[in-house]
Amino acid sequence: MRKRFTLQEYKEGVLSGDRTKLSQAITLAESLLETDLKLASDLVQEILPCTGKSIRIGITGVPGVGKSTFIEAFGQLLVDSGKSVAVLAVDPSSQKSKGSILGDKTRMEKLAGDKRAFIRPSPTGTTLGGVSSKTREAMLLCEAAGFDVILIETVGVGQSETAVKSMVDFFLLLMLAGAGDELQGIKKGIMEMADGVVIHKADGENLSSAKKAKSSYENALHLFPLGENNWSTPVMTASSQTKEGLSDIWETIQKYADQMQLSGFWESNRASQRLNWLDENLQFLLGKFFMEHEQVQELLLQNRARVENGELSPLSLARDLITTFFQFNEKR
Ligand code: GDP
Repeated sequence: MRKRFTLQEYKEGVLSGDRTKLSQAITLAESLLETDLKLASDLVQEILPCTGKSIRIGITGVPGVGKSTFIEAFGQLLVDSGKSVAVLAVDPSSQKSKGSILGDKTRMEKLAGDKRAFIRPSPTGTTLGGVSSKTREAMLLCEAAGFDVILIETVGVGQSETAVKSMVDFFLLLMLAGAGDELQGIKKGIMEMADGVVIHKADGENLSSAKKAKSSYENALHLFPLGENNWSTPVMTASSQTKEGLSDIWETIQKYADQMQLSGFWESNRASQRLNWLDENLQFLLGKFFMEHEQVQELLLQNRARVENGELSPLSLARDLITTFFQFNEKR
């Protein structure tokens, strides 16, 4: 059985930077139990005034591009410069692949052992919406615990990028030189989302192709119109093995932060992200209450097969389910 604490105990533990309490608070926030959901939302509300001071960085790229290795090296660089770093992940596929992108990796051992770093594996959730909402809560809890930088890793496939983009200040795309764009699953949309592009593993024999890739991506990015923040996405090269280029990335992120704070974009972006989070929560909670509703479940069970064999229209059943949900709620 998981140990539970009072709201005050969680709050004090998190605000004092107690790692164990922070982990326990994140576990609480990840729980789908009704009582935990209530306590977790009270906790997030309580710590809200102590959040918002960190730099939130999203990191994406296809599997094998070196995200974990990069986070370990980059996180180490930040820690060595006196920053505290929390690492989180959004990985909606983790249930299928059994184990999360961070959880089963031993490569971040060094960073995990540093007392200024905190590494949290991806939560398992049935939907991306659920997972990403929980990652936001984990992010706020880490901020309240005093971390300077939050790194959020995501697999470079599907919608998880959009989810991470909508919760971070700076979105970093890792790419490889030489591998075709198609191979890397790079769609124009992902390039457009990036605030910085890194040609990773720029070391040894890869070095010259990395430089070539840098200029061709620079050219490609120049064709995109500037976004509302007026930031032109830089392309950098880096190696997590030699550590070459890592400090340039950090400098770029700091420059971005300065520029955006000055222009007001930093705060307006966070404000629209908060509204986005509200939408996500509404969808997640509505879905959860709906699917857990006894009469809805019953009606669904009785009629699923009829939809499956074409006898009953899906729209008609969906409408009946919704009517049932509201009728039974009214009677309560
Ligand atoms: P992820 O799937 O994106 O998290 O990638 P990993 O961090 O697991 O790295 C995939 C492979 O790339 C591993 O074999 C790493 O040793 C290797 N790798 C990671 N970073 C670098 C780098 O900077 N240079 C080179 N040459 N190899 C790297």
